[in-house]
Amino acid sequence: MALEDCDKCIELNYANCQVHNQKAAVYFELTEYARGELSIRQALEVDENDTTANQLLGKLREKQREFQNALPLIGIAFNRRQMSFDQFLLENPATRRVTFVEMDIKWKSYEYLHWLSVFCPPEEFRIKFAGKVSASDYGVLAEFRTIFCAIHVAKQLFDMGLNVEFSAHIPNGRQLYRCRHCSQSSETKLLFHTHLQQCQANPAQLQIDFEKEAVFSAYDEHF
Ligand SMILES: [Zn+2]
Repeated sequence: MALEDCDKCIELNYANCQVHNQKAAVYFELTEYARGELSIRQALEVDENDTTANQLLGKLREKQREFQNALPLIGIAFNRRQMSFDQFLLENPATRRVTFVEMDIKWKSYEYLHWLSVFCPPEEFRIKFAGKVSASDYGVLAEFRTIFCAIHVAKQLFDMGLNVEFSAHIPNGRQLYRCRHCSQSSETKLLFHTHLQQCQANPAQLQIDFEKEAVFSAYDEHF
């Protein structure tokens, strides 16, 4: 099945998780794992217990681990985690700018770009800096479109044992808002609020902390 056919099916049957699974499978065949993951997440939002979606997610995680293990990362000390990522977030409030520390000294920006693309579609982030991030550490600083994107990637890498740091980010220019459930953009906070209440991909329309949702979904107009 081609991607356009999948989109057509999704338009007609948004609430059927198999159409999202089919799209994820197509992305997997194209080795576009980060995009495939978005489709799996949409399937799981429809039905979190769906067998196919969970199998696809398992396959994706396996791919990501394979990729991670294949990297010539000399500097990474895989830390035993003393805390969960959620606890980490409480002490380190998330921003759009994330530094991944203890990376390979030899890597160039484009290599980091390729690496991070396994976890997040390349149009959702930019590599701002790769090199010495402290007296003793090399790392890479990436700016993500939204805080939700940054958290999504930071969590995966944190869980793999990498050290992640959020740093201050100053919004640049007009802010738009992108729904994390269906990816639709809204031009103002008010329109975003309206969208969230009507979004058919959002399973919990009534229990939203709207202010937080807006902060985490905001992005620079010219990102
Ligand atoms: Zn939406």
